[in-house]
Amino acid sequence: MGKEQVKMPSLLEFGGPIGNLILVIFLPVIVAYLYFAVAFNDGALLPQATANMDAFWRSLQPTWQSTAVYLGWFLMQAAFQAWMPGSIVEGTALEDGRRLQYKMNGPASLIATFVVVAALHFTGVVKLSFIHDNFGALISTITIFSFLFSIFLYFYGKKHGEYRGTNNFFHDFFMGSGHNPRIPPNGLFDLKFFCEARPGLILWMIVNASFMYVQYTKHGFVSKSMVLACSFQWLYVLDYYWNEPAVLTTMDIKHENFGFMLAFGDLAWVPMTYALQAYYLIDRVHNLSWLAAAGIVGLNVLGLAIFRAVNNQKNQFRRDPENAKIWGKQAEYLETQHGSKLLLSGFWGWSRHFNYVGDILMALAWSLPCLFDSAIPYFYPIYFAILLLHRERRDHYFCQKKYGQDWDRYCEKVRWRIIPGIY
Ligand code: NDP
Repeated sequence: MGKEQVKMPSLLEFGGPIGNLILVIFLPVIVAYLYFAVAFNDGALLPQATANMDAFWRSLQPTWQSTAVYLGWFLMQAAFQAWMPGSIVEGTALEDGRRLQYKMNGPASLIATFVVVAALHFTGVVKLSFIHDNFGALISTITIFSFLFSIFLYFYGKKHGEYRGTNNFFHDFFMGSGHNPRIPPNGLFDLKFFCEARPGLILWMIVNASFMYVQYTKHGFVSKSMVLACSFQWLYVLDYYWNEPAVLTTMDIKHENFGFMLAFGDLAWVPMTYALQAYYLIDRVHNLSWLAAAGIVGLNVLGLAIFRAVNNQKNQFRRDPENAKIWGKQAEYLETQHGSKLLLSGFWGWSRHFNYVGDILMALAWSLPCLFDSAIPYFYPIYFAILLLHRERRDHYFCQKKYGQDWDRYCEKVRWRIIPGIY
């Protein structure tokens, strides 16, 4: 441990343009494949002889309804972000010392969305089952939208987004050309924050509600496993809105540009793959024992408690380093030449990303209600573990670039990357 050399190339990430191209093609393919596996392949990972390929391809075709519903959804979320009441919070300092302002109206947007969705459902205009019944068309529609939006982001970010690109077209399309594209350019509507926090995250909740509703209409009850998988994920999103300003100290907001990777991830990947467990459970109505259910609830509570406590410690410290109290004591920190301080107290003295441990425990708890007949419901924890291992390396790289030798000193003090004593 101690001083660790970072091998990541400074300009071209995720394999450079060729790696980016592969991801641009394969990420949408993975979303569609997971849907195929759950809906047309009996929940199996590998294609079965009985898989109904024709129905799968037909279901992927975007329709006027899927287009109208998604555009309506996106514009409604944008209108809520722009006009719903909320406090104005300053982000952490940018490289030039400026702090951007963000409108934190997530809770109001969420409530307004619930009202609209309930009204559409109970009047029969758009029933909750629409999402389930048009899932393939919605995947295609949101994917096409994400591509078009990313092309817009490339040009807009270059001009108005505080350009931080590499002058390599494809790499900038994938990673983003601008860091903080806003509409209008110096206004309050931050496109990256909006996409991270609204259309995909809230849609994820509604997708789960749709699957739960469909199970109810088909079987006349909602299974214990369905209740667990959906309520854990709803809790995760609600927790986000309860602590919304904490997003301003995350890597996505602080370090990433805004391009296809985040746009597709936020808009398509999150709602269309994270709710996979609930889709899988619609027709798999096994009876989970109360003991197993209690164990899974305990795992999720533990994961959420770790995740929230660790993130809150950093957030509280970043907001007011001098006065932050961690576990009842004045926070200890390391001064850096850059000016930002690095927290050494609490969980941040245990490892550099103990928050990831909480996330992984929760990811497992979301999949366990599906039991073990198929690997498909475990896609999320497996993918997420890989993402977090890679993310930790990328964050290490960003921080070493930002703090130089001070980061090495920090790593000497906090030796473990994620799991104290192990990794
Ligand atoms: P962190 O919240 O750990 O943020 C990393 C940033 O925090 C660093 O870039 C650095 O920025 C700052 N930092 C690092 N060490 C310290 C320290 N000792 N003291 C103060 N600041 C420090 O990582 P992420 O943004 O990756 O994750 C945020 C949360 O979101 C995690 O819980 C993660 O698991 C979760 N997540 C969930 C995803 C999902 O799809 N469900 C996807 C990705 C993340 P700086 O110094 O510039 O302030």
